Amino acid sequence: MKNEGDWKVFRDRWMARKNGVLTQVNELWLKAAPSEAKREVGLAVNEIKVQVERGVTDAKDHYENVATLRATARDRGLYPLDISLPGVRRPIGAEHPVVKTTNEMVRVFQKLGYSVADGPVVETDYYNFESLNFPPNHPARDTQDTLFIAGQQAKPQRERLLLRTHTSPVQIRTMEKMRPPLRIVIPGTVHRNDPPDASHSPMFHQIEGLAVDTNITFGDLKGTLDHAMKEFFGSSVKTSFRPSFFPFTEPSAEMYVSCFICGGSGRRGNDPCRPCKQTGWIEILGCGMVDPNVFEFVKDNGYDPRKVSGFAFGMGADRIALLKYGVDDIQLFFQGDVRFLRQWA
Ligand SMILES: [Zn+2]
Repeated sequence: MKNEGDWKVFRDRWMARKNGVLTQVNELWLKAAPSEAKREVGLAVNEIKVQVERGVTDAKDHYENVATLRATARDRGLYPLDISLPGVRRPIGAEHPVVKTTNEMVRVFQKLGYSVADGPVVETDYYNFESLNFPPNHPARDTQDTLFIAGQQAKPQRERLLLRTHTSPVQIRTMEKMRPPLRIVIPGTVHRNDPPDASHSPMFHQIEGLAVDTNITFGDLKGTLDHAMKEFFGSSVKTSFRPSFFPFTEPSAEMYVSCFICGGSGRRGNDPCRPCKQTGWIEILGCGMVDPNVFEFVKDNGYDPRKVSGFAFGMGADRIALLKYGVDDIQLFFQGDVRFLRQWA
């Protein structure tokens, strides 16, 4: 019963003098009753009359209440729900450039048969440093670079908690769980005690990879990474490897790709190409053959350094996104300014 009109139809059906249900009950039951039953039938008809009148009054209250609620909702700017009306469309966000870069790079390695591995951001000294062959006095362990969790002096050093400074602890954690052969790619956030500026942020993103099997060589490393960079930046990029040092790989290298902005010429028209500093090459990642000392920590799970070998690589997702999208300040990635992010919508 929605309104007064409905209610009147309802009322008249029961109470109209001409042909309403009560009138008919009166005519057909009471008047037709034999005289000895008139009193009893009269009482029953009266009872029915009371009930009908109560029902009709209740129905009136009901539709009046509904009308009041509607009026209140209208006054407050609320409208009774109508599911047939078109909905309010929320604006769909855009994939963040760093997330987009990460996903694209991860997909390149997934196509090569790598699976995605994950691990905690709050790590122990053991997984972040010790098991990755960082000597006890290596500068990366210094509080200048690493954000340690406070109040842990009572714990042995290897159990102390810190914010992981690289995604490499996931390599050890995965090797503890899975036996070789292994091919994993590890995207994730890492933290360093770097004051924020145009090229540094205390929180940033890495993408790492690890491949372990019997007879993995530096040739496999070069072939895999060369193929991956061509997939990611385009088939015309060239790669170049230069010797470097990392505690957990031996030998180690830095990989450069030919500048995908100036095509390797070092110039953009008459201007110098800034991203490659006019060299025609951009340093893109660190890599190397897994140091046998690292395998010693997971030897019991099938990683005997005399039987298996492997390569590892790591790159900064933010840096690649900066280069790819021509952004000159890493802070823009983390300020959440919709005007900046909308450019990739
Ligand atoms: Zn260039």
